[in-house]
Amino acid sequence: MITEDRRIWCLERNGDYSVKSAYKFCSTNLADTSHLQANGPWHLLWRICAPPKIKNLLWRICRHCCPTRVRLQDKGIECPTDCVLCEDHDEDSFHLFFKCRNSLNIWNQTNIAQAVLQASEEQSDAAAVIFTLLQQVDKDKTGIFAIIIWSIWNQRNDKVWRNKDTPQQTVILRAMNFLNDWKNIISVQTSTSVDMQAETTLTKWKKPSPGRIKCNIDVAFPSNTNLIGIGICIRDETGAFVRAKTEWFEPKCEVHVGEALGFLSALRWVHELNLGPVDFELDSKLMVDSSRYHRKDFTEFGAIIQHCKAIFFLFLCKL
Ligand SMILES: [Zn+2]
Repeated sequence: MITEDRRIWCLERNGDYSVKSAYKFCSTNLADTSHLQANGPWHLLWRICAPPKIKNLLWRICRHCCPTRVRLQDKGIECPTDCVLCEDHDEDSFHLFFKCRNSLNIWNQTNIAQAVLQASEEQSDAAAVIFTLLQQVDKDKTGIFAIIIWSIWNQRNDKVWRNKDTPQQTVILRAMNFLNDWKNIISVQTSTSVDMQAETTLTKWKKPSPGRIKCNIDVAFPSNTNLIGIGICIRDETGAFVRAKTEWFEPKCEVHVGEALGFLSALRWVHELNLGPVDFELDSKLMVDSSRYHRKDFTEFGAIIQHCKAIFFLFLCKL
């Protein structure tokens, strides 16, 4: 589709060089990062039913980079190492979240006390306790588990940075209120999204305006072949069938490229038929956006869109 050669950076859609894409390519293809990888069921951590910042805190604990006093001293920062919540043990993640008498009292007031206490007896570091819990308790309880850890961390920070004592009951209440507020927001967002989807699904085909015809295009990607199918249907201003066509292309390509090929095929066919002013209708938002805006795009998709635009503007059709 590209008619003239030009120098492009193939790792970016717009063909321009970026440090971000070069860094990603080097870190995944050129540098050996295996020594940075840590074993564990990390997918369970990211599936926790809790806000992202809570999951990020758990990730930091599991990667041993939560800035407890012991960890800070390991990194050369001069500071006391004793736990500010009990003052009789060094503050590392395992102690702070699972062994400190403050934390044990907090866990004992939750519905996951038994699982947490058992895991902290059997395991020897915070990451192992967290992974054990994530494998043992259900989805709702993983959210409670994570949010209580976050609230204990806040309790510790209140003491270290503001010299403020937070009662254990407040630690639990703050955690549960935050989790409930977040769940309410998520449920509102989800129901709004479902409503919008339902609205979209119920959108009915409309006739073109008087004096115009309408061309509908759809593209199929059957799973058992290496082909993509393109269906084109043309109707007149009364909604009556005019012409239809099916085409098959090989090999199978990405969905947005297939949609673009479908549009290009329809434009060429309508041009050959010389049917007059045409409205085109297709269900790919990316295609419609790309056809309307002037973004640089040197990918195969961008080249097809350029081709479509060239044909399209010749006939002054309305999208
Ligand atoms: Zn302590």
